[in-house]
Amino acid sequence: MMDRALRAEYLEVLGIDVWVPRRGEPQGDGRATAAAGPTAAAGGTARPEARPPAPMPASPGAGEGPWEALRTEVLGCTRCALHAGRTQGVLGVGNRQAGWMVIGEAPGAEEDRRGEPFVGRAGQLLDAMLRAIGLSRAENVYIANVLKSRPPNNRDPRPDEVAACLPYLRRQIELVRPRLLLAVGRIAAQNLLATEESLSRLRGRVHRFGELNTPLVVTYHPAYLLRNPADKRKAWEDLKFARSVYRQLTAGLSDDGHRS
Ligand code: SF4
Repeated sequence: MMDRALRAEYLEVLGIDVWVPRRGEPQGDGRATAAAGPTAAAGGTARPEARPPAPMPASPGAGEGPWEALRTEVLGCTRCALHAGRTQGVLGVGNRQAGWMVIGEAPGAEEDRRGEPFVGRAGQLLDAMLRAIGLSRAENVYIANVLKSRPPNNRDPRPDEVAACLPYLRRQIELVRPRLLLAVGRIAAQNLLATEESLSRLRGRVHRFGELNTPLVVTYHPAYLLRNPADKRKAWEDLKFARSVYRQLTAGLSDDGHRS
């Protein structure tokens, strides 16, 4: 459990006043803490009881073989035109056995240069957001993007590029087998969920993704939050919602998704 002072410090980084609801106290937007779990998600799309948490496989994809094959493929990939302008393909970073998987849109300039997703100011904010709910990319989160190569001038991904690249992300998800996917930003959410619904309509619900039917929660992209700090409070609500969903999905398991 994260120390309160440390959490307060990270919330301060997020620019959010520290406010700790009492147990069961309704929250400001009407989502009572007791109703923040998947069974109460709007749209009724989450049915954790229909897929009780299975024990985490001892080493899901922990072997280097599948990961090395994947990395080699991405680094040499020419499936779409983006390969021509990239410095390098950016596969992902974090714990390959994580219970959480964060999925963004595509590498930016800094990510393209360093070969790691979510670096720079947006990456620092993402780390602060994760830390606020007791997570870190070094310990219990794996981070990847829908696209592995940088679009020129950071333009939105095109449908053909997403179609070409999504199989890589699907393979990553199959290897990591996270308990929960956190899609950050409208582009990632819309592409993963094959919808044109607005981010505001996608927030606060539990969706499902892929053949593994992995639960997926949506929030803002940290780069957006840097430009629109007033929405950080909404992002904080999303993170608390995601944490509540994760806890229900892993009831009886330790924080990192393994049986305690
Ligand atoms: S974006 Fe994906 S599909 Fe396109 S070249 Fe890069 S790795 Fe290949």
